[in-house]
Amino acid sequence: MFEKVLVANRGEIAVRIIRACKELNIRTVAVYSDIDANSMHVQMADEAICIGKAPASESYLRIDRIISAAEIADVDAIHPGYGFLSENAHFAEVCESCNIRFIGPQPRAMNALSDKAVSRALAKKAGVETPPGSEGIVEKEQDALAVAKRIGYPVMIKAVAGGGGRGMRIAHNDISLVKGYHTARTEAEKAFGNSGVYIEKFIENPHHIEFQILGDNKGKIIHLGERDCSVQRRNQKLIEESPSPLLEYKFKKLRDKIGKAAVRIAEAARYTNAGTVEFIVDDHGNYYFLEVNKRIQVEHPVTEEVTGIDLVRYQILLAMGEPLQHSQGDITFKGHAIECRINAEDPFDDFRPSPGRIEMYYQPGGHGVRMETHAYAGYTIPPTYDSMIGKLITTGKDRREAIDRMNRALNEYLITGVKTTISFQQAIMQDPNFRRGVYSTNFVGQLLGGARRELIEEKT
Ligand code: ADP
Ligand code: ADP
Ligand code: MG
Repeated sequence: MFEKVLVANRGEIAVRIIRACKELNIRTVAVYSDIDANSMHVQMADEAICIGKAPASESYLRIDRIISAAEIADVDAIHPGYGFLSENAHFAEVCESCNIRFIGPQPRAMNALSDKAVSRALAKKAGVETPPGSEGIVEKEQDALAVAKRIGYPVMIKAVAGGGGRGMRIAHNDISLVKGYHTARTEAEKAFGNSGVYIEKFIENPHHIEFQILGDNKGKIIHLGERDCSVQRRNQKLIEESPSPLLEYKFKKLRDKIGKAAVRIAEAARYTNAGTVEFIVDDHGNYYFLEVNKRIQVEHPVTEEVTGIDLVRYQILLAMGEPLQHSQGDITFKGHAIECRINAEDPFDDFRPSPGRIEMYYQPGGHGVRMETHAYAGYTIPPTYDSMIGKLITTGKDRREAIDRMNRALNEYLITGVKTTISFQQAIMQDPNFRRGVYSTNFVGQLLGGARRELIEEKT
């Protein structure tokens, strides 16, 4: 058993990991940047070590400083959370070479899925369809045009190293493709230090459906069902739920098929620990592999709620070399779970980030309500990192009950001092199409378009 774990992250996920460690009687070490000195994870951990200044490049992304902290504190393992160094195979290798266990997939599996283009190729080999597109990275403008001619517009230009909804753009014709191709490369180089882009068909009216997987060091891999994350704004998830209404109401036979495809891809990568295989599904029930997130996912709690399995605890046990306790047939699903990502953003001002001091803070509770957050009254959300305040998760015996409960919980949630997305998520809970379970990734755009029209009509 690990005796001590360092958490190389911040915010709600650091708190989540520290809680899992405490339940396993593992001591915890937090690392933090100077601006995070008063953050919840620092207060909750048994020890805390400052690793530098606020910019992530001077703290949470500094492998040397995190490893030094791990050696000073003499930990057995490091949990990287999500974002930051979580999908960095080099970091995982450095940990292993310092005799510190990395709580995540083995570097071999990470390298097999190193970027989106490599992962696409691996999925194809595993017999899973990807959106039609280029074979690997597109090196020349002429090649981009040739691919678009073959697959037809609209197409997406995507950075192989992109993430968090950034690094992709749509092109509808040759002119916007040529322009977009060059800008995408320059932007990708700046944002991800990798200018590689590839091209894939833009799937119309897509549903984002992803499968949670778990793998042990003996090669056993299972999936824990799906999450529907189609409620997105600018390719970033706002609300997630399990089960997916699309698979539940419309394409009942797809769940099993996509689940098996997810496991096949994970097997081809000889995947270990927790991961997520992402797909887009169109209105006709065609499904295409998108990417593998080689880490714990922001929205993992919805899967925990419907399966009753603690994923972070499982990650720790799997990293210790324990075998999977479950077989595919042991995984059963109960009821429905929904998560809202509560962000410090102003929905009335194009979701502009709203960092600052939280004055009053009262979070919802009661039956079927779960909060994952590092926020409290008096906490200052720094402008430096992402704007998520926390995640509100509700469950119900069915989708209707989970939605009504979410609506109630959002209503109870009181945060003053910063703007939040709460009112917007409440509007979604009351939207007839969302309540019917009929929505795609176009949903938020349509809702905002409608709201804008109403505002304009009111004015005129
Ligand atoms: P999830 O599906 O778990 O929500 P996201 O893709 O939204 O995953 O990313 C989770 C977190 O990691 C977010 O904070 C996001 O900003 C960050 N992130 C993911 N990939 C990258 C990347 N390549 N570069 C920078 N940040 C990233
Ligand atoms: P990230 O690494 O930022 O998570 P993904 O490749 O997972 O990037 O895509 C994020 C989101 O962008 C998807 O959930 C989907 O809404 C949209 N998207 C990505 N690729 C396509 C595509 N080929 N067609 C339509 N939408 C897409
Ligand atoms: Mg993704």
